[in-house]
Amino acid sequence: RVVYVNGRYVPYRDASVHVEDRGFQFADGVYEVCEVRNGRIIDESRHLARMRRSLKELSISFPMADAALRLVMGETLRRNRVRNGLVYLQVTRGAAKREFTFPDPDAVAPTLVVIARSVDPAIGEAVAQAGIRIVSVPENRWARVDIKTIGLLPNVLAKMAAKTAGAREAWFVDRDGFVTEGGSSNAWIIVGDALVTRHAEHGILRGVTRTTLLDLIAIEGLRFEERQFTIDEAKTAREAFVTSATTILTPVVQIDDTPVGDGKPGDIVLRLRQRFHDIAEWRSL
Ligand code: PMP
Repeated sequence: RVVYVNGRYVPYRDASVHVEDRGFQFADGVYEVCEVRNGRIIDESRHLARMRRSLKELSISFPMADAALRLVMGETLRRNRVRNGLVYLQVTRGAAKREFTFPDPDAVAPTLVVIARSVDPAIGEAVAQAGIRIVSVPENRWARVDIKTIGLLPNVLAKMAAKTAGAREAWFVDRDGFVTEGGSSNAWIIVGDALVTRHAEHGILRGVTRTTLLDLIAIEGLRFEERQFTIDEAKTAREAFVTSATTILTPVVQIDDTPVGDGKPGDIVLRLRQRFHDIAEWRSL
């Protein structure tokens, strides 16, 4: 296995960045994860556009043009013979003597790391067919979760709490009882015949999978409500599910101690999951 680090493809076990990298010291960086399926990178354009936005919001310079980055992503996947799995991109502000304020961007270049990994799609499919359990946790993150930063400690702790409780994902719930999103996914419910998810302007990451699912919902002429919902409403919803690049659409069958619907994966979410890749953008490796 090889990974791309700052202009070079290096063996996985030898790959490293500087101890004074600002990603390491301050979580001063951003990341993206794209799904790879049947030798295709899914929704790459939207992921790159979001990374560009995250970097802009943090005044980190873009390490290379999109076209060059696409080449590096493709090459990293090919060199690792990944046909199904994911490609992870991380950009930090770079390595500099530890100081809170930014180093001179003319003197310090951002650090770019690209890692490709094979994942058997049968695993995610089995999880989706079984459905996942959710635990609710208090929202304790900063107000800029719209930026996809590598500062993920609250998410790590939330997902660890979920795992300890035998659940696969945690949903953050704000002080008013409204669900914001998952530890690494967006949260959805189906009420009556309407798909419901929170507006992306506040309190969540604008998921690429969420955006592409909105395209599918429009194509299918399904009812959609962009609004916040409480954890109590979610527990009485007809169906619930999560979206992310690595889980696509995955049904939720239990929230805390309450089964969702009949406690089995919902028909609507499973059908939309099957349709998702028919409409998502892709590029062949
Ligand atoms: N919210 C959070 C907090 C996430 O970490 C993720 C996954 N990166 C998502 C939502 C889903 O985003 P996407 O569909 O782009 O993977």
